[in-house]
Amino acid sequence: EAIDSKDKKATILLMGLRRSGKSSICKVVFHNMQPLDTLYLESTSKPTTETFTSLIDLAVMELPGQLSLFEPSLYDSEKIFASIGALIYVIDSQDEYLSALQNLAVIINYAYKINPKLHIEVLIHKIDGLSEDFRLDTQRDIMQRVGDDLLDYGLEGVQVSFYLTSIFDHSVYEAFSRIVQKLVVELPQLENLLDLVMQYSGFDKVFLFDVNSKIYVATDSSPVDIQTYEVCAEFIDVTIDLDGLYEQSEEASRPTKCVSRLQSGSVLYLHRMIRGLALVAISSFGKDDPRAENPNVKNAISIIDHNVNVFKKSLETMWEGSRIR
Ligand code: GDP
Repeated sequence: EAIDSKDKKATILLMGLRRSGKSSICKVVFHNMQPLDTLYLESTSKPTTETFTSLIDLAVMELPGQLSLFEPSLYDSEKIFASIGALIYVIDSQDEYLSALQNLAVIINYAYKINPKLHIEVLIHKIDGLSEDFRLDTQRDIMQRVGDDLLDYGLEGVQVSFYLTSIFDHSVYEAFSRIVQKLVVELPQLENLLDLVMQYSGFDKVFLFDVNSKIYVATDSSPVDIQTYEVCAEFIDVTIDLDGLYEQSEEASRPTKCVSRLQSGSVLYLHRMIRGLALVAISSFGKDDPRAENPNVKNAISIIDHNVNVFKKSLETMWEGSRIR
């Protein structure tokens, strides 16, 4: 039977009032735009779609706020809600947000009836403008109000997740990573495999990144520390810059692996996987003897290469399997 590629696409729908920050989030996360450059973004009037890959194909569809959700002539909202895996609703926390919350409740009520399995994710966005204390107060207030609204609609059982985000730091990537991971059905197997890689390679933390967006689609089961995430994500940029030096050469001869030692003594390790993914890990081995020719370090790296190649093979098998399913 032919594989329907549409079935393999998990779509995330991005909604929110005008100026809440939807286009900025897409430009920063998927197009490497500098956050300050979003100040001059033109307001979009058409729905736009960004696609990216992980084990599954993912699409992020942005519906401009000024369009009415219930204007059937513009797009078939019922069909859209039936087909998506997650709804991300962006709230501007620096602005008066009561009308956004009203809009959100209407959308949840509508979406939940069409697609009860939908993941509902709320970004309390632009938190860079709020003090530390005020962030938590705002989150508490929004969660309380959303809970009350759902109660009014008789939807008290509906799960809604909240994230504090800003395009000026890594919080928006962290939120997207956690949201995307809910849509990757292979996540438990991936986590198990990454735990094994950790255990046998002496890593402190390992991520499986989508290289272009720097969303991590899986990590080992130890907690994520945002600074470790930042260091690993930045290492991807450094590696891509190095890759640029080889632009003239054949695709096949471009480096697929990069190892680097930080001033702190930690070692960063990047290895390209399939489908635009890369495994990036941080480790503190050989910290006491940071010479490049340290035989322990050399030995450790060849063991790591072996383990990571085994992981890559498993990933290929998983990808084949997910296509057949
Ligand atoms: P959209 O209409 O929902 O697509 O909103 P835009 O993406 O056009 O953003 C509206 C404004 O919010 C722009 O001036 C952005 O620079 C600004 N903005 C977006 N995200 C953030 C953020 O995290 N923090 C701050 N301070 N401003 C943001």
